[in-house]
Amino acid sequence: MSSKFDVVVIGGGPAGYVAAIRAAQNGLSTACIDAWLTPEGKPSLGGTCLNAGCIPSKALLESSELLHRARHEFTAHGIRLAGVELDLQAMQARKAAIVAQLCAGIQGLFKANGVTALAGHGHLLPGNKVRFTPADGEPRLLEAGNVVLATGSTPTALPSLPFDGERIVDSAGALAFDAVPRRLGVIGAGVIGLELGSVWRRLGAEVVVLEAMDRFLFMADGQIAKEAERQFRRQGLDIHLGAKVQSGERTAGGVRLRYEDRQGSHDIEVDKVVVAVGRRPWTEGLLDPLAGVTVDARGFIEVDAHCRTTAAGVWAIGDVVRGPMLAHKGSEEGVMVADLIAGRYGHMNYGIIPSVIYTTPEIAWVGRTEEELGQAGITYKSGTFNFAASGRAKAMDQAAGLVKVLADAGSDELLGVHVCGPMAGELIAEAVVAMEFQGTAEDLQRTIHAHPTLAEAVHEAALSVDRRAIHAINR
Ligand code: FAD
Ligand code: NAD
Repeated sequence: MSSKFDVVVIGGGPAGYVAAIRAAQNGLSTACIDAWLTPEGKPSLGGTCLNAGCIPSKALLESSELLHRARHEFTAHGIRLAGVELDLQAMQARKAAIVAQLCAGIQGLFKANGVTALAGHGHLLPGNKVRFTPADGEPRLLEAGNVVLATGSTPTALPSLPFDGERIVDSAGALAFDAVPRRLGVIGAGVIGLELGSVWRRLGAEVVVLEAMDRFLFMADGQIAKEAERQFRRQGLDIHLGAKVQSGERTAGGVRLRYEDRQGSHDIEVDKVVVAVGRRPWTEGLLDPLAGVTVDARGFIEVDAHCRTTAAGVWAIGDVVRGPMLAHKGSEEGVMVADLIAGRYGHMNYGIIPSVIYTTPEIAWVGRTEEELGQAGITYKSGTFNFAASGRAKAMDQAAGLVKVLADAGSDELLGVHVCGPMAGELIAEAVVAMEFQGTAEDLQRTIHAHPTLAEAVHEAALSVDRRAIHAINR
């Protein structure tokens, strides 16, 4: 096998594997080094996203939601089920099979596109050289025209609550429980805390969520966050805001957590605790100090708007660089970099990256929130539409929540779209396309939406921007 490539990608997650495929499509000889091993010790492409993130979490969210509906919502449809039971082992096996299929799929895509997959560890040396150490072999030197660093991120630990892999776990641990905890503590009401807290709540656990910030979902639009919080509390998520965890200690059967909030200091006992307080970039063992790649104070590899690092011919993408830690953000950076390396056009619109939280209610947004527009002194118009007036949402028995459209008061250009309700993650795609084309609220108003669909709620919210909604009273 050759040791010379046009492009060597280090990291086979959604940033790295997409960069490698696009580089190969561009006619460049490409290798992708990835270190991920399954618990059985087998190499597995796909990074955090496929192996222990996006995909397994969505598999369990889907299964647990079906169980919840069968137990609590089918009767409203006139369907009576007796003896609905959870088979957690089967649920976990289904999740594992989906992950295995998708990871093998990337291997297949590499083969089809001519990407050389190298299982093991990559280390960047000066002069665009990479030391590749296979899991079970001698290190080899690779020479590359360009190197793309895509080594991702790892969970942040709390010093007062170090992971023990059994009772104090990270997201990967919480995706793999083999029994439903009676009482689960979740530290951090961010995306992981809410998604995994929802999974185990639906499967029967009491879930206590401790969030340090005073405002729920501080990164989301305030009105949307309020609606979501109301619905989560109704589902029985015991959410404590402004709660700072001070210590945790293992007890005979679980973990005792001490946290402080405005009311004072509290002790609670849980069987298990998931620490989900964010993730940090992963560069351990990656960079030779003489390679010329700069890392900032928070550990992110420094890059410009086109993901060029401080070393010529070395690029960095995905969670290991600034910006939201989202799979699709990393993938698009991968496409941009691979196209730029091939001498083609490449660009990222960082202002239009959709965010989705796959809970019930699903929460999705793109662009700016009302709070951000207010802070920036931008005058805007706002229109909302409640799913309560959507025929499709009613038919689905999922009529809680709303769509909000924000448009510039002068130009009418769309500035932000926010959804809390059924299929929000799918609905937001329309807004993303409209905003990518610098669309206006009127563009959405004049676009014909099929009836009866959830997308009509986006249409009506756009109409409501100019107080012209048909199926709502315009105030
Ligand atoms: P990663 O996916 O972390 O991949 C990096 C790869 O590089 C890994 O395989 C790692 O082993 C390898 N590596 C590291 N160092 C080296 C080295 N020196 N040599 C060789 N290989 C190395 N995002 C979404 O957009 N949607 C979701 O629904 C979503 N759900 C999530 C759920 C959970 C529970 C978690 C934890 C994350 C979720 N995310 C989601 C975030 C998403 O997983 C990340 O944003 C995404 O995986 C980042 O991609 P990446 O390629 O930059 O890094
Ligand atoms: P996050 O940043 O979404 O949330 C972390 C939460 O923990 C915040 O609300 C923060 O205020 C809180 N927190 C921090 N320190 C705390 C402390 N000491 N005590 C209590 N609360 C504390 O991070 P996450 O949920 O760990 O997710 C990590 C990354 O993975 C995110 O960037 C996210 O984008 C990505 N992710 C995305 C998806 C998705 O797109 N659906 C799903 C899961 C994860």
